[in-house]
Amino acid sequence: MNWQEEDLKYIWHPCSQMKDYETLPPIVIERGEGINLYDVNGKCYKDVISSWWCNLLGHCNPRINAAVKKQIDSLEHVIFANFSHKPAITLCQELAKVVPEGLCKFNFADNGSAAIEMALKMSFQYHYQTGNPQKKRFMALSDAYHGETLGALAVGGVDLYSELYKPLLLDVIRIDGPDCFRCPYGKCRDNCCCECFQKAEEAFERYADETAAIIVEPLLQGSAGMKVYPPLYLKKLRELCDTYNVHLIADEIATGYGRTGKMFAFNHAGVSPDIMCLSKGLTGGYMPMAIAVTTQKIYDAFYDDYLKGKAFMHSHTYAGNPLACSAAIEVLRILKDENIIEKANEKAVYFNKIIKEKFLPLENVGEVRSIGLINAIELVKDKNTKEPLDYRKRTGYQIYKKALEKGVILRPLGDVIYFNPPLIIEKNDMDFVTDIALECTKEILNIV
Ligand SMILES: *Cc1c(COP(=O)(O)O)cnc(C)c1O
Repeated sequence: MNWQEEDLKYIWHPCSQMKDYETLPPIVIERGEGINLYDVNGKCYKDVISSWWCNLLGHCNPRINAAVKKQIDSLEHVIFANFSHKPAITLCQELAKVVPEGLCKFNFADNGSAAIEMALKMSFQYHYQTGNPQKKRFMALSDAYHGETLGALAVGGVDLYSELYKPLLLDVIRIDGPDCFRCPYGKCRDNCCCECFQKAEEAFERYADETAAIIVEPLLQGSAGMKVYPPLYLKKLRELCDTYNVHLIADEIATGYGRTGKMFAFNHAGVSPDIMCLSKGLTGGYMPMAIAVTTQKIYDAFYDDYLKGKAFMHSHTYAGNPLACSAAIEVLRILKDENIIEKANEKAVYFNKIIKEKFLPLENVGEVRSIGLINAIELVKDKNTKEPLDYRKRTGYQIYKKALEKGVILRPLGDVIYFNPPLIIEKNDMDFVTDIALECTKEILNIV
């Protein structure tokens, strides 16, 4: 059977111009092990993007496999309204120990965007039920990404995904967020005072009265090209939100679970959000599941006699799926038993060092930025002016195709090449994937 032909006969792939598949047909994967994926012809691909950032502990991790297999023989799924099960309860007990202080009530969904929708609705309804019905708008940062359902898309600020749909979207208050590589204040992210925070202050002065919440991707704006900004920004935002009675929603869907070197990105700032959204690493990349976790204070604003109509009427059929919960419990156990984050941080030092050594000398590399094991290489036309490459040349995409031939999955964000590997990646693979990425970059950019 020609699996690629059969695929194209039926399947419309996500986030793809299907015409591109004429020259780069889908790669049909048969099995995975660790950071390796093997296609139907036995060719190996190094998954250094963690299969869209969700695979945390390697493909077919023996411990997670065992946990899910065990669960499937007792209960696959049950309605989650008025019913519960041990895996969900155990998961929350364990998560409660590691989430930022004050977060204690867990509401389940089945994908990241749905958790964002929940957070937005929850915030609006909280204010509505606590005497501030005029708070019905949201603030978000430039270049933000929060998912692709309509509410999530509205708070997002990456035009590639949202521009076309603007007529359908909520009117969101957009704040110019941190842009450390091209800082308009001429500062450097390692020692600035977040001069750019002034934009947030201005927006709050003007719009806080009508604002329910501000949503941020803490420290790392992933889809924007792995843009990294300092924890001080979050600290300042916490204060501002408290002053103006605006919720702080942390979208930790990509940054949670050790990706930034701590369990959650907010841990770097030493403050807590009012609502935190989790998905991706939550199940180790095994099952679609997401959680919006919030405070007792928000929870209490919904707690009343039924006829008061204050309940949070939000549901997803697969909320709290037991198989997903069993995977998620095992992920937390592995992180702890095997000191995964600590070890990842040691490896991150090495990874960043070799990436800088290999890429910084190239004339087209504007910046190498990193947080945790995530490293991004921004390609530019001119190192000095930081002028971007002509996006129509699709340089990143050409590098992606080249690297695939050589067995490495890069999938750049525009012309930003990045690595976001499973936390269990080893040194020999770091050497290999960075060598291939360098080779392909030089080849496509004609650098000798
Ligand atoms: C992936 C992602 C989402 C959306 O999650 P989905 O499960 O793809 O809907 C939202 N926010 C961030 C920061 C993400 O990386």
